[in-house]
Amino acid sequence: MSTEKPKVAFYWCASCGGCEEAVIDLAEDILKVVEAVDIVFWPVALDFKKKDVEAMKDGSIAVSFINGAVRLSEQEEMVKLLRQKSGLVVAFGSCSHLGGIPGLGNFWNKETIFRRAYLTTPSTDNPDGTVPLEKTEVDGKELTLPRFYDTVYTLDQVIDVDYYLPGCAPPPDLIMNALQAILEGKLPPKGAVLSPNKSLCDDCKRNESKPEKLTIKEIKRPWEVELDPEKCFLAQGVICMGPATRTGCGERCIEANMPCRGCFGPTDQVIDQGAKFLSSLASILDTDDEKEIEKIVDTIVDPAGTFYRFSLPSSIFRRRRMEDIK
Ligand code: SF4
Ligand code: SF4
Repeated sequence: MSTEKPKVAFYWCASCGGCEEAVIDLAEDILKVVEAVDIVFWPVALDFKKKDVEAMKDGSIAVSFINGAVRLSEQEEMVKLLRQKSGLVVAFGSCSHLGGIPGLGNFWNKETIFRRAYLTTPSTDNPDGTVPLEKTEVDGKELTLPRFYDTVYTLDQVIDVDYYLPGCAPPPDLIMNALQAILEGKLPPKGAVLSPNKSLCDDCKRNESKPEKLTIKEIKRPWEVELDPEKCFLAQGVICMGPATRTGCGERCIEANMPCRGCFGPTDQVIDQGAKFLSSLASILDTDDEKEIEKIVDTIVDPAGTFYRFSLPSSIFRRRRMEDIK
């Protein structure tokens, strides 16, 4: 009988590093993980190289957990390699699952992002206007950088994904449940999001505080209101993405008296999280007057960024039209 432990890989693409921290957040449970599996690739923590992965047999990694969206050619190459070498691929965290915060880059393109980041921010001091180039020569040697794409992609827009672990970042209990299910072979059907398929409102302690007919006349930002810690945020006129967001996070933001931002993405029944929230919001505006509705909606600062904060690349829009970007 083989005593070999299942091989596991972790990889990050366009991400903030929070999902790597989430693995560390397993605390003492990480010892159980290390005991049960062999971590064969984890660039942030262990010194394995791409060539080590290339040398592995196809399908020999039991599962690869990939966090971050795909924004660079290098990330595309690495996730395709890991797909080839892995039995299972899990999209780990909001960016990999839905596009996440890096996905908001889909309101722009490479040229406008580079212009802003390297030339026009108030703190930029770049008199020569230097921007990163894919190829450049230094001391007679050619140096290369990965290609920066105009569009940010979710992991499943680039490779076949078996499961999704939602969250920004996924909480430790969901990670442990997923690992256990993988090790015991007790997984749901392929394509499942490994968190309960109901909305956050269904689990939220503040749900009962909602009046029978919830209506709002104006929309405020959290810092503009002294928030009642027992009362539904929407009933206080503050946007909370709970009605359009999957549960399973443990209501971490709600417990901290902050409204849900939507990082768990939608439930299985919803195609577009932003559109779902917009329809929930429209149903509670306390007026039928078009001008009044316009006035209320105008008080939402950055509506696209609010409703699609985590999900733009996975939405029905995917990105702003390139021809509209100046
Ligand atoms: S809208 Fe937000 S605060 Fe209100 S019940 Fe839903 S999750 Fe809770
Ligand atoms: S409350 Fe919303 S934003 Fe906060 S962790 Fe849960 S799903 Fe994510």
